[in-house]
Amino acid sequence: MNDIFAKCHRFTDARAAMSLGIYPYFAPISTGQSSEVVIRGERKIVCCSNNYLGLTMHPRVREAVCKAVRKYGTSCTGSRFLSGSLDLHEEAERKFARFINKESALLFTTGHHVNQGVISALVGRGEVVITDRLDHASIIDGCRLSFGEMARFRHNDMADLDRCLTRYADKPKLIVVDGVFSMEGDICTLPDIIRLAKMHGARVMVDDAHALGVLGPNGRGTAEHFNLEAETDLIMVTASKSLASIGGFVAGHEEVIHYIKHFARSLIFTASLPPPQVAAISAALDVLQEEPERRARLWEITRRMLKGFRDLGFNTRTAETPIIPVVVGGGLQGAFTFWRALYDEGVFCSPVVPPAVPEGEELIRTSYMAIHTDEQLEFILEKFAKVGRKFGVIPGSASRAPRKPRFELPPDARFFNQRLARRMSGAGKWMRNLFNIKK
Ligand code: PMP
Repeated sequence: MNDIFAKCHRFTDARAAMSLGIYPYFAPISTGQSSEVVIRGERKIVCCSNNYLGLTMHPRVREAVCKAVRKYGTSCTGSRFLSGSLDLHEEAERKFARFINKESALLFTTGHHVNQGVISALVGRGEVVITDRLDHASIIDGCRLSFGEMARFRHNDMADLDRCLTRYADKPKLIVVDGVFSMEGDICTLPDIIRLAKMHGARVMVDDAHALGVLGPNGRGTAEHFNLEAETDLIMVTASKSLASIGGFVAGHEEVIHYIKHFARSLIFTASLPPPQVAAISAALDVLQEEPERRARLWEITRRMLKGFRDLGFNTRTAETPIIPVVVGGGLQGAFTFWRALYDEGVFCSPVVPPAVPEGEELIRTSYMAIHTDEQLEFILEKFAKVGRKFGVIPGSASRAPRKPRFELPPDARFFNQRLARRMSGAGKWMRNLFNIKK
């Protein structure tokens, strides 16, 4: 009776959402990654991609990939440490280090691996890693794998960070923050973080997954944005967003990178990034620098969409970057039915639900690309306005205050036996949330 698979048999929450026609995940795209895609035969305008500069379909990036496959083949079949390092990896590292103004850089197979490997390599017994509560999950995973202690401060709350730093006054400390927060779309308060770090003798690592190519006059990210490049000890980025590939870099002083290279388990014990993906990174780094008009367009779009949503009456929280959350509330049902209604209207976006956001603040995370056309942006705003009014998330007309939102299930929702579901549901919370069932 102690079957390890028992929980799998009990887990019915996702199937319940499927039967209600509001399951938003794993939608299979059958076209190239652009601002318009086809999903299950239907065309959708995308507003949930992290392809910020729109380089995934760029001819130079694609050509570089084809050339690399022809020369090097499809995989390295070994780790960077042993047989999987190519001259291509080293060239990309040198290019990235030069670009980001650091002595040295190291290329991992994903951004997740960077955070896992770097944090667990640097933070050992008797040492402390301090993170913002809204830091990305991969940072938390890195902390879990480290043998050090972990402390978290309230999002962008410098008094709380100061308290954490004071509590661990006598221990070596690393502060790790997202440059741009992936759900909120706001920017870390780096000047204050660095000031406090200096006061308390801590080091600072910034995760610039969503800032590379986006923030800073030259797209070098959060440190460039605040003119604090020399003061930021470590910068990590992923190649899976603005760089149109997959992989991740960490950059910093040569001795620190050399140490990470010999202690990061996620670098040493996994196969290296395949040649075509390395070639895509290198080419994308060139395009990022040679076509600054892409970043300018991205910011024009960001300002327009922020204003557009706020003028319509949507709550976009503290967003200030191309990531714009639109709060809809209403529990899982609220976020999922809003998502489905937008999907039916031809907009493809991502619902975000607890624990990624507080209960009652469920949202649709939207994000923009330099390649969105004005017509597509208008289309997105128009459909959000239509669905927002339909469910009462925003006022129906300028003079009327919104009633309490009511999220109706789509017409094809199939009957689902709530009692049975409650009894069967292993995760439970998800289901209760979905049906607003009280414990
Ligand atoms: N950090 C942040 C802030 C992210 O958003 C992500 C990916 N969503 C990662 C790290 C991990 O990057 P990757 O996709 O390359 O594993």
